[in-house]
This record gives sequence, structure tokens and C-alpha cells, in this order.
Amino acid sequence: MTAITLVQGDITLQTADAIVNAANSSLLGGSGVDGAIHRRGGPAILEECRRLRASQYGKGLPTGQAVATTAGDLDARWVIHTVGPVYQVSGGDPTLLASCYRESLRVADALGARTVAFPAISTGVYRWPMEDAARIAVQTVRAAETEVEEVRFVLFDERAYTAFAAQLP
Ligand code: ADP
Repeated sequence: MTAITLVQGDITLQTADAIVNAANSSLLGGSGVDGAIHRRGGPAILEECRRLRASQYGKGLPTGQAVATTAGDLDARWVIHTVGPVYQVSGGDPTLLASCYRESLRVADALGARTVAFPAISTGVYRWPMEDAARIAVQTVRAAETEVEEVRFVLFDERAYTAFAAQLP
């Protein structure tokens, strides 16, 4: 059984085996969570992302997929980068957003990560409505077959925290 926990705060200050990044497909950094992770995690993360772009992800990481790198200076062993869908482009189809959570957990299992911190993927510049994103996130994690013992959603503000809390018993 995977425990789902919620905290309000900055994901870059969490202690976990793996911290998930709401990346963009370039893997070369961006705004929001992505910028914060690279700033606090230091250059080792970007270096490994560049190597991924030079090898198996020459065209970037496709939406809905996930890949791990070092966590650099973060208090974690790995950062798992996943690319959420842009709401307007997806037309609200939850498939790719659910895939981000499922694929990140699959990568976490392959690494042996037991605690994984997730941000609210796609709810920032990709503009997925928070309540709907929270429902998709929680349902997907609940349904996932994973060895991960704790999935911790790290919500940046009260609005996000409230939306996720409404999905839990
Ligand atoms: P996306 O491009 O997938 O929409 P963003 O990083 O723009 O990703 O936003 C995803 C969510 O993460 C938003 O709800 C945003 O408020 C939140 N967020 C931004 N910075 C942080 C942070 N340091 N820790 C946790 N959540 C954050």
C-alpha cells in the first residue's frame, strides 16, 4: 500500500528518495518548479540533462514520459523529470497527465526509490485547472502498482493544498 501525504511548501526543500520535476521537453530548465530545482540543485542536474539530450532524448523528453538524473545538491538521491501536457493542447484529456504520474512511479521503482515527492504537474504555466489536476493525480497514484511507500504531494500554495486535500478521505 502506498501512503499518500500532502504538504504545503517548496518541493526543493523536501527530503525524499526522489523529487519529481515538472520539466519541459527540452530538459534544459524553465520556470516554476523546474527553475527552482535547477537553482537549488546546482549544475550537476543540468549537466546530466544535457547528456540525455545528446544521447537518447535528442528531440527532447516526450510529454507524459519520465527520466531520472542525479539530484545534485537537493536532499534526495534522484530527480525524476516528467513533462506534463499543456491544458489547451490536451483539450482536457487526462491521459498524458496521468501518464506523468504513472511513468514517474515506474522510474522510481526501477531505481528502488521508496519516497517520492511530486509537485502539482501542469498546474502552473501549463494551466491545468487545479481541482481537475488534483483528481487525476490522486486517482492515478491510488491505482498505480508500485513499490513506492510514500507519495508526497508538495503543494506550493493554499489553493493547491486545499484542492489535493479534497481528494483524500
Ligand atoms: P507546469 O509547467 O507543469 O505547469 P510549473 O512549474 O509552472 O509546471 O507549475 C506546477 C505547479 O508547481 C504550480 O502549481 C506551481 O504553483 C507549483 N510550484 C512552483 N514552484 C514550486 C516549488 N518550488 N515547489 C512546489 N511547487 C511549486
